[in-house]
Amino acid sequence: MLQYILSFCDPSTLFQLMHVSFTTRQEAKKLFWSDPTTRYIVDGQWLLAGGHPRHTNHDLEALTHMQYIEVDFTFGASVFVTEWEDGRYYTEIREGEDQRAAFWMALRRRFPRVTDVVLTEGTSKRLGTPPDKGTRLATGSFDGISLSVSQLQWYNNTSVCPASRYLWRWNRSSSTWELTDTSWNPHRITPPVRKYFGPVGAYQRYDHIDMDLAELEYARENHTIQATEAYYVHIRQPPCVCPFPQCGMQFEQPGEWVAHYSQAYIRSRTHDGRVPLPPWESLRSAFARHDASLELKRQRLSEEMARMQAAWGEPGSSERSTASQQFLQQLRNDPLYAGEITPEESEIWFRYQRDMNGQEHPPIY
Ligand SMILES: [Zn+2]
Repeated sequence: MLQYILSFCDPSTLFQLMHVSFTTRQEAKKLFWSDPTTRYIVDGQWLLAGGHPRHTNHDLEALTHMQYIEVDFTFGASVFVTEWEDGRYYTEIREGEDQRAAFWMALRRRFPRVTDVVLTEGTSKRLGTPPDKGTRLATGSFDGISLSVSQLQWYNNTSVCPASRYLWRWNRSSSTWELTDTSWNPHRITPPVRKYFGPVGAYQRYDHIDMDLAELEYARENHTIQATEAYYVHIRQPPCVCPFPQCGMQFEQPGEWVAHYSQAYIRSRTHDGRVPLPPWESLRSAFARHDASLELKRQRLSEEMARMQAAWGEPGSSERSTASQQFLQQLRNDPLYAGEITPEESEIWFRYQRDMNGQEHPPIY
């Protein structure tokens, strides 16, 4: 009966009911994690690398309840992927067939209740072309899950503004893809973040906030583009005037300016620097608050790094020796940071030392 009543609740009500009593928590939890309109976004590179606890910011316990997930390959949710692509420190990923098997084994182990998986590809070769990269992975998938690929479609094939998502469903019996949706747009959320303990946790927490912030900073331009579009659709009627003062071209239809912007993005003398905000005071002040908050977060993060570097000390000092031992010891003994590679050879240890020594990061984008 309780389950029946709960089945009418929306996710936010379920979330509140999870805090009422043990019984409602257990029942509400099942439905909360199995809402088909909500997709939990998980890091594809992490699963390809075997899904070890050491490499993720996801709360592992929460993952065990999820039924509908989207495995994202467009952007690494952890710096270790960038390292891998950069080919410098990365030693923890297997090659070829092994990697595909490792992916599905990790997925099954981390998501024992999963019933529906969407793999997200960054771009397709041509609009409407079935997924190519996804096929190799799809052939290794196991029975009992529905598998699809989501492809991001971009304006004018530039990676400036995402336009829509195509969804292709894998037909296991014929080993082919079927286009099922041309504007797939679920409620996408990131899983809860793990709890961070000890020196490895402190470093990983820093790393996670840094990555999150970098994404927000990167997204600012897209927010400006959307705000400009919205301004000319909802506030001021067309013509939309290209906000770059050197350009000033005019457009009658919604979407024309974005198309123009993405075309001109490659190299244009008239589009110099950031997209200027539309002449609307409340929008401008909202962006000013947003920028100030990003700046404050960046500043706090630098201070956090400075504290960690101070604790790391000089080469040969007792601080250095203690910090090294504690970090490696946690990697060795803490199941929350288990991985395949020995602590001394692990990617996170290399990265930690580099950051503590203030060496350059490879670019994130
Ligand atoms: Zn323009």
